Amino acid sequence: MDVVIAGGGMVGLTLGRLLRARGIEPVIIERMPAGSYIPRGYMLGFQGYEPLKEIGVLDELWPEGREIAPQGTSAVAVCVEVGKVIHAISRDLPVMYEHSVAELIAGPDGRITGVVAQGPDGEVTIPSDLVVACDGVRSRVREMAGLTAVFDRLPEGELSWMSTTPSDTSFSMAYMADGGHIGHLSWPQGSGGWRSCARVGAEAALAPGLDAIKEMWARLLPDSRRGVDGLDSIEQVRYSEPELLTTPEWWHPGIVLIGDSAHFFGPETGISSGIGMGDAHALSEAIAQNRNDADAACAAYVTWRAPVVRPYEAMDPGRQRILVAGRQEPGPGEAWPPPG
Ligand SMILES: Cc1cc2nc3c(=O)[nH]c(=O)nc-3n(C[C@H](O)[C@H](O)[C@H](O)COP(=O)(O)OP(=O)(O)OC[C@H]3O[C@@H](n4cnc5c(N)ncnc54)[C@H](O)[C@@H]3O)c2cc1C
Repeated sequence: MDVVIAGGGMVGLTLGRLLRARGIEPVIIERMPAGSYIPRGYMLGFQGYEPLKEIGVLDELWPEGREIAPQGTSAVAVCVEVGKVIHAISRDLPVMYEHSVAELIAGPDGRITGVVAQGPDGEVTIPSDLVVACDGVRSRVREMAGLTAVFDRLPEGELSWMSTTPSDTSFSMAYMADGGHIGHLSWPQGSGGWRSCARVGAEAALAPGLDAIKEMWARLLPDSRRGVDGLDSIEQVRYSEPELLTTPEWWHPGIVLIGDSAHFFGPETGISSGIGMGDAHALSEAIAQNRNDADAACAAYVTWRAPVVRPYEAMDPGRQRILVAGRQEPGPGEAWPPPG
């Protein structure tokens, strides 16, 4: 089967490695230069262990991270600098870097039969039996295929930070009186935190200033104190307005969505990449078992994967908060920005 992977983030790269292990050589197209990534606080949940074990990078990453909730020789998750994860997965993997999937080619029956990629030397047409959209939450490939994306705005804003100082523990999190949440995670080179806050826009959310943010975080989540104290500029604090993503249909003849292009979970779950890597694992096996029939591979993929992914989507704590938004008030000292 000729497979084109549109997007070489964590999920597309994992799929590339898993397919090659099954004797299928996909074309991986990534718009960014090799080795580039957006730094972020990152925990690899247990959902991603099996695919990374199979491609031989889990054992290498484990000692680079800090375990969360260790259990015997394993842990519920491991906090690791995200660049190390991307570097380990992409090593020795042929990728068409600095190329963007700009167009999908469709046959008269609507089946996707290839892509047009744009790169430094112009356009190249790549025929395919199956395009796998791994191009992230705002997937253009999904949009070009006409597959529906349902975005649900969370009722809250989010304040987050990253510092180069590790905290005393790898992870801590608490829920507040209004159902909001505050958390931190820490890897050997730094730490990061997040909390829900009023949906007031960046200017109002950051207006109380860095010292007030540090004081609030250390008071509500004492384990984060050392990491948050390591902040030296308000530029290291970010306000955003998170959204959840679900896609009712995961495939159309000739194209399938996996990873963040198919689903995105709430900020406190820390599961999006692990679920995406699990998607890649299931799809690689579905393709290997249906080498001459892309539609059968996609149908098998959905049959295996929906019972795993759909319950996570339905039970996302962010989705529960949408249902009860505005019913409860923050507790004393919890509201952000602080009243008055
Ligand atoms: C702030 C933040 C914190 C997070 N924390 C966690 C966490 O703790 N744990 C966790 O499991 N997950 C976390 N996530 C989610 C996690 O980063 C993603 O699930 C993970 O990156 C896998 O996504 P992906 O490969 O499907 O998509 P992406 O990582 O978005 O990769 C998509 C790739 O496609 C490329 N691309 C886009 N368009 C095109 C195109 N037209 N042609 C070619 N290439 C294209 C992009 O350049 C990119 O490299 C976090 C996300 C954010 C934003």
